[in-house]
Amino acid sequence: MDYFLSEEQKVIKRLAKRISDEVISKVAGKYDKEGIFPRDILDLLAYTELTGVYIPKEYGGFGGGVMEMCLVVEELSRNCAGIAVSYAATALGAYPIMLYGTQEQKEKYLTKIAKGEAIAAFALTEADAGSDVSNIKTVAEKNGDFYILNGNKHWITNGGEADIYVVFAVTDKSKGPRGISAFIVEKGYEGFYFGKKEDKMGIRASSTTELVFENCKVPKENLLGREGTGFIIAMKTFDRTRPGVAAMAVGIAQGAYEHALKYAKERVQFGQPLSSFQAIQHMLADMYINIEAARALLYSTCKMIDSGAKDYTKESSACKVFASDVAMKVTIDAVQIMGGNGYVKDYPVEKMMRDAKVTQIFEGANQIQRNIIASEIVKEL
Ligand SMILES: Cc1cc2nc3c(=O)[nH]c(=O)nc-3n(C[C@H](O)[C@H](O)[C@H](O)COP(=O)(O)OP(=O)(O)OC[C@H]3O[C@@H](n4cnc5c(N)ncnc54)[C@H](O)[C@@H]3O)c2cc1C
Repeated sequence: MDYFLSEEQKVIKRLAKRISDEVISKVAGKYDKEGIFPRDILDLLAYTELTGVYIPKEYGGFGGGVMEMCLVVEELSRNCAGIAVSYAATALGAYPIMLYGTQEQKEKYLTKIAKGEAIAAFALTEADAGSDVSNIKTVAEKNGDFYILNGNKHWITNGGEADIYVVFAVTDKSKGPRGISAFIVEKGYEGFYFGKKEDKMGIRASSTTELVFENCKVPKENLLGREGTGFIIAMKTFDRTRPGVAAMAVGIAQGAYEHALKYAKERVQFGQPLSSFQAIQHMLADMYINIEAARALLYSTCKMIDSGAKDYTKESSACKVFASDVAMKVTIDAVQIMGGNGYVKDYPVEKMMRDAKVTQIFEGANQIQRNIIASEIVKEL
């Protein structure tokens, strides 16, 4: 399918594909097995300037948008979503700064992120506030020139590895979601520690940890936006980054499909290649149809967002749900087509199936996305 990408977008996609095929494919299995954080790959992405594709030119980036970010994530995910998510989580941490940062904050942080000199993270979830994000308990109290943060964050991608964390905390308990604020917290700030590292089913090359704040001193100029705008900052960020999860899902599905197709052509049973059996052909056809449909929805959503449209919550959630459900189905079918060989670690599809699962869970589980979409379409009635 031709999606009529611009010449620059094609160059970005080709470069990311080359890194994915020539470098990531060779280390994906090992990094997954041993849970190795892909700092070397992130350095390579920095060297090739892919770290800055979605960051404005004035802060040292390429000046692209959500589309450029998604093209990179998609191609990296074709071989390893664990590595891709380490890149994507930096975008998740950078977007709140791009959208709500002051000139000083943007200059200080985005320039480093664009050059790959800093990795970022986004810290919203807590033990008792997953889907119910407005229930966060981490507090931030103003004290002179500082905010003092106390509390714990769970499941934070790039935790321990990132240099910059956008952290959400309650500044006024009486105001519910309107009492949440966002802060930029640097690794090394007094009172900021890393807790448990999660032992995950998939995306094992990525780091997911607990963050601990014990009287952590955050300079008052690190408040993002105004006090009380944290919930809006989080939601507006997700609108721009959920397509990144969809891109991850499309990439995983594409990778699994390519492996299954190749295998089906080579594997002979009953004197014929598997690809000659109609049951297998129909599975391959459905994989192709679903992947292209997911990619079409993803790219249309990216174009809509980058065009400067005002509201794209519904579209952003829809592409995340659709693509992640496709990734799950396609990877399960890829394992099925490859039979016993699909189920063992000699081939990458079992990893892809494990990696696909999280795309239905994080950045808002798919049930929550369906709630969001339903509430938007009912509002439009
Ligand atoms: C690998 C990984 C990386 C992550 N990275 C980050 C990160 O970088 N930053 C960050 O802030 N968070 C991160 N998260 C957290 C992630 O966003 C949450 O796990 C997710 O939002 C779901 O929250 P929960 O796990 O607490 O599930 P719960 O909220 O307990 O939900 C459990 C199940 O119940 C369903 N459910 C809950 N409420 C409803 C409802 N009202 N209606 C219907 N169904 C409902 C959910 O859909 C889900 O299937 C990460 C999670 C994982 C697993």
